[in-house]
Amino acid sequence: MIVEVHGEAPILFDLGTGLRLLGETLPISPFSASALVTHIHWDHVQGLPFFPQIHVPGNKLDIYGPAQADGTLADVFGGLMKPPYFPIHFSQLQGDVRFIDVMSDEMAIGNAKVLVRPVPHVGPTVGYRLDWDGRSVAYISDHQAPCTAGDNPQPTTQIDEGVLELCDGVDLMIHDAQYTPTEFAQKSYWGHCTIDYALSIAKRAGVKTFAMFHHDPGHSDAQMDQLVEDAKCKGRAIGIPEVIGTYEGLVVDL
Ligand SMILES: [Zn+2]
Ligand SMILES: [Zn+2]
Repeated sequence: MIVEVHGEAPILFDLGTGLRLLGETLPISPFSASALVTHIHWDHVQGLPFFPQIHVPGNKLDIYGPAQADGTLADVFGGLMKPPYFPIHFSQLQGDVRFIDVMSDEMAIGNAKVLVRPVPHVGPTVGYRLDWDGRSVAYISDHQAPCTAGDNPQPTTQIDEGVLELCDGVDLMIHDAQYTPTEFAQKSYWGHCTIDYALSIAKRAGVKTFAMFHHDPGHSDAQMDQLVEDAKCKGRAIGIPEVIGTYEGLVVDL
């Protein structure tokens, strides 16, 4: 995913499989960008080796993300991108790729103000908020909802303080919306939440647009259409101005 402000270096959210196709739409060189990585699970990093821009001398990519139990961000990426998983080792990349560990931080990237907060998931994970050019975006890709005990665990009404801080009044909240209540009951500890829980965050934080993200890979297109339609209805009923379902290639103009 990419956030762009005219005339400034872009900021990427995570480095998933969409990165390869995105790379084909961006200038190959000169290229300079930053990437805000939430965590190191495969679905968030496996696009990086296939991003054409990192193979060009002189190009720059600064990758921010949380250190892991196994080491710094640079250590864990080094373990991912090396033979036999990929033909070359990270150190052989032609582009200039730097790693910066973040967890609970406030920083500037160019003219963008960036807030980083830990987010409950499986393993060290963060979420980001960008305030840039008069607009704000929160990105919380994977969020474990706190849940009730018993045979049918469901999200409670409790919301992590850091998550609320990230989402407070944002123009766009891109948030985990993986499960229905039935699915959540079966996978309550898999690190995700229900669409209803994400809606409750959007409501509490006063979000203008909630973009449903991290769909369950088992959902068909028809199911997705229905889930998005239902979420739009629920959003309207509780006063969230807009709810959208995300998909590859979607462009949101703020
Ligand atoms: Zn994950
Ligand atoms: Zn994920």
